[in-house]
Amino acid sequence: MKQTIKYKLSVTAEQDGHLRRLGYYATKLYNTDNWQRREAWDKTGKIPDAYAQKKALNKNQWFKLLPSQTAQEVCFVLSQNYKSWYKLRKKDDKANPPMFRKKDMLSTMSFYQQFKMIGNKIKLSMSRRYAKEQGIKYLEMDFANWKPQGSSIAKFCQIIFDKGKWYAHVVYDVAEAIPVLNDKVKAVDLGIINTAVSVDNGGGAVVYSGKQILAIQHYFNKEKSKVTSILTKQYPKRHSSRVLRILQKKQNSQITHALHIHSKGIVQDCTNKGIKTLVCGDVTDIRKDKNIGHVNNQKLHSWSFSKFTQQLEYKCIKAGIRFVRVNEAYSSQECSSCGIRRKSNRKHRGLYVCKSCGIRINADVNGARNILNKYLRDFGISMSRSIGIVAMPLVARIQNVCPC
Ligand SMILES: [Zn+2]
Repeated sequence: MKQTIKYKLSVTAEQDGHLRRLGYYATKLYNTDNWQRREAWDKTGKIPDAYAQKKALNKNQWFKLLPSQTAQEVCFVLSQNYKSWYKLRKKDDKANPPMFRKKDMLSTMSFYQQFKMIGNKIKLSMSRRYAKEQGIKYLEMDFANWKPQGSSIAKFCQIIFDKGKWYAHVVYDVAEAIPVLNDKVKAVDLGIINTAVSVDNGGGAVVYSGKQILAIQHYFNKEKSKVTSILTKQYPKRHSSRVLRILQKKQNSQITHALHIHSKGIVQDCTNKGIKTLVCGDVTDIRKDKNIGHVNNQKLHSWSFSKFTQQLEYKCIKAGIRFVRVNEAYSSQECSSCGIRRKSNRKHRGLYVCKSCGIRINADVNGARNILNKYLRDFGISMSRSIGIVAMPLVARIQNVCPC
């Protein structure tokens, strides 16, 4: 399994200087390569391929100043950009070939074999030419505190400059933990009214209320529509403004923050109870069977779901918990106790009543139990009997978040 982790690097002024130099070289190399391709095209009517370009650039100073694989990757990215342009040109003969990068842009640098993760440090090897010119063979930088647990091998890394800060995106090969039959398992069902409902095979259930998130959503939608109505009166053709964008940004960051509180709570609960596997309903398909109402809710729905599952996955890996997605197509219609699927069973206002076995249960708890059952079934464990009837769910609410 591949796992990408983003580290913020803490760099000294000197290291910052080196990274800026390398990023600048990468931009220079990209543009030189591009320039050579265009020139050859003007002369011969043909654009040289990646192989010809590699030969032509072998003696290039920017190429030599960068670690060799980093330099090759820069050229590879350009050749990919050309390939997509060729495709585009077949449909649209006015399509522009790949542009030159701005002079002051610091290009992303890729490292394969020329980087190492040692403890809390990332070590980049410099090229021979760079070492000779700058008197430095390695760059060793600190990053924040964690790595995936268990056996993981760092395969690939990209050094990225974003808004004044340096980041390392490191791709790990993580050995998948082997599931054990009697491991404790927790399942979560995601929704709008309740951000998440979790059920574990020890009988515990927690409802993570979505009330606060809906309040944030409601507040900002009102504010945005006020601004929009003023805007359309003044400038009928404009759909966006600085104020609107700021509001949207604030809204997203407040919702993200609220989601973090819940995802942290779920993973914390797993750690406390010694739960080794977290099963999450796969929400990549839009769920038609969930009553999510208004258009705004639907937007919140898909955006916050993907955000939330990302947070869960990343926090699970950090805590050494297996994260599994299961398809939850019918999770809300099926009775988690007797297994009968009946559309009319789903009651609104949060209660699920089964006409076959008579169980009355929180509808989202029912959904989460179905996800848990589905996972356990794959191991040949019979469903509800292994779980028992869930205790009254605890309710987790978010406090201290003010929607303004
Ligand atoms: Zn039933």
